[in-house]
Amino acid sequence: MPQGLIVKALSGYYYVRPDEGTDIVQCRARGIFKKRGESPLVGDRVDFELTENGEGTVVTLHPRRTELIRPPVANIDLAVLVFSVAEPDLNLQLLDKFLVHTEQAGLDTVIVLSKIDLVRQADRLPEEIEQARRLYESIGYEVIPLSAREGGDGVERVRKRLAGSIAVFSGQSGVGKSSLLNAIVPGLTLETSEISHRLGRGRHTTRHVELVQLPGGGYVADTPGFSQLDFLSLEPEDLGAMFREFRGLSAGCRFRGCLHSKEPGCAVRQAVEEGTAAESRYRHYLSFLEEMKERRRRY
Ligand code: GDP
Ligand code: ZN
Repeated sequence: MPQGLIVKALSGYYYVRPDEGTDIVQCRARGIFKKRGESPLVGDRVDFELTENGEGTVVTLHPRRTELIRPPVANIDLAVLVFSVAEPDLNLQLLDKFLVHTEQAGLDTVIVLSKIDLVRQADRLPEEIEQARRLYESIGYEVIPLSAREGGDGVERVRKRLAGSIAVFSGQSGVGKSSLLNAIVPGLTLETSEISHRLGRGRHTTRHVELVQLPGGGYVADTPGFSQLDFLSLEPEDLGAMFREFRGLSAGCRFRGCLHSKEPGCAVRQAVEEGTAAESRYRHYLSFLEEMKERRRRY
């Protein structure tokens, strides 16, 4: 039976890109999915049957590696978090919030520091930006400074990183997500301008999501991810594990389930006091924890 990838879902139809051949097959889903309360998602790998009218039927869904709620896409494996170094200013608290969400979703994450042409002087980035870059690299994230306007190495690195993945771009509006995609997908002018349009307006509309095929072989969702950054599906005791560098440290906390806040014998707090873990990350951790507790008090 032929297999493929659902690249778009609209009005009860699933658009499947077959592994063999290039033409997208418009499919209905087998009724059994509905009965089981399952529903195919964009990003699902499927088995499908061709029907006489040239359409198809989705017969089997393959197990999902990941499942994102906003946008609703299965099997995303890479999040590209775009944060501008200026216009708007680099916001590390918001970056840490996005990182909590990508960690929770189990995605590989690349941090793009965009619009470096606005702050670079004599080929150097300001010390504050370099510091941020070193911090996130030391935690284990790949950090790519770039200018979508000027192109060059950074844009090339992102392009290479996307090959073979299903990626989602995330970040505040205005940081340059669409510009970066436009720089990465040359030749697809028509589709790119469409991407650009949708990414720019993502928050005003509840459009369907579509996976756009990249020349290098991967796919990118045409709607930015994590448009709603609440902590609804996370328990306070699990927040610490979303901070990569806290994970290893927490084994050293005196109490199991330590929230790393006021508990005695907290290894995370100690590392921050000794300067081996970043104070900014810890501060953001505490503010997210407070946000989660506040929500619980209200509901
Ligand atoms: P999005 O909302 O994240 O998709 O951001 P856009 O791609 O629409 O970009 C927002 C604004 O930033 C636009 O005016 C772009 O021209 C500008 N911009 C995007 N990338 C760069 C860049 O690398 N350098 C500079 N100077 N401006 C950029
Ligand atoms: Zn602790």
